[in-house]
Amino acid sequence: MSCQGSKRVAVIRGDGIGPEVIESALEVLDAAGAGIEEVPVEIGFGKWKRTGKAMSDEDLEPIKDCRCILFGAITTPPDPNYKSVLLRLRKELDLYANIRPFSKKGLDIVLVRENTEGLYSGLEEVGDEEARTIRMITRRGSKRIALKACELAACRRRLTIVHKANVLHSDRLFLKTCKEVAESSGVQYDDMLVDAAAYNLVIRPEKFDVMVTTNLFGDILSDEAAGVLGSLGLCASANLGERYALFEPIHGSAPDIAGKGIANPVGAIRSAAMMMDWFGDAEMARRIEKAVVWSLDQGITTPDLAGCHTTRKVTEAIANYLLETA
Ligand code: ATP
Repeated sequence: MSCQGSKRVAVIRGDGIGPEVIESALEVLDAAGAGIEEVPVEIGFGKWKRTGKAMSDEDLEPIKDCRCILFGAITTPPDPNYKSVLLRLRKELDLYANIRPFSKKGLDIVLVRENTEGLYSGLEEVGDEEARTIRMITRRGSKRIALKACELAACRRRLTIVHKANVLHSDRLFLKTCKEVAESSGVQYDDMLVDAAAYNLVIRPEKFDVMVTTNLFGDILSDEAAGVLGSLGLCASANLGERYALFEPIHGSAPDIAGKGIANPVGAIRSAAMMMDWFGDAEMARRIEKAVVWSLDQGITTPDLAGCHTTRKVTEAIANYLLETA
């Protein structure tokens, strides 16, 4: 995944701890000498309170213009008609591949989640007595996510296709398509029922390498993988399409710790590293990840990892490491 050229980034800080961790990511990018041009875009709960809309149609213009987005987190407004801004961005920008790496000593998993279909396709009928959500699986959607997963698995060990095809007939199409793509890509693969995958992720996480799955299963398994790692605050993601890319920590706005200065900035910093990789600077991505691992090894961590350091202290340590090792 790469995009050469100018490094203009639409920065959506969002709500809760979103602005805190995005500030950290920008500071680390600066220390690494990333040279990005920031285009701030206000979207989220704060905007909803002021204007009644969390995101306007005009907000899409600078976002599309930049093609690249660094995203914090958004608090869901208390409005029954509210439609998720993040889901809208993923759909409108066709960010079909959600790539979520989970790594620590002895563990290195990449979860590839289909991001536009499945149970999040938005096809819903809600009545007083009955409510339906249509689980849309297409050959096209399954094929392109399988291709993305095989691209990653080709330079790693193996692909595991995660599904529930024994019960959900829609997943038979997903499984069949993924198997066809894996066969023709020549990657080693197997498949696993999602319930077995959820269990194995806890008791034998080292069993997995690249996992590919549908939208809801990917959403749930990634929080589980974050738990196996030790904190949601450690985990990053890239939402990729053919033209646009959005990078975000996998955690939400965490209102319970917002404003306390203790949010773990690592997920946002790792998301920024993935962004540099997309810009074609794999070496800078590697340097940032090395600085993060160094800070974790030194025990310079926030309270979610049983550390006693603040967001600021962790950010400074990572930024200083980058400056000193430049
Ligand atoms: P959303 O619905 O926006 O995803 P959520 O409440 O489901 O939000 P999070 O906001 O991610 O989920 O928070 C879940 C828990 O994890 C909270 O207790 C929160 O404090 C903790 N948490 C999330 N992100 C971080 C972080 N970066 N650092 C420390 N703790 C975090």
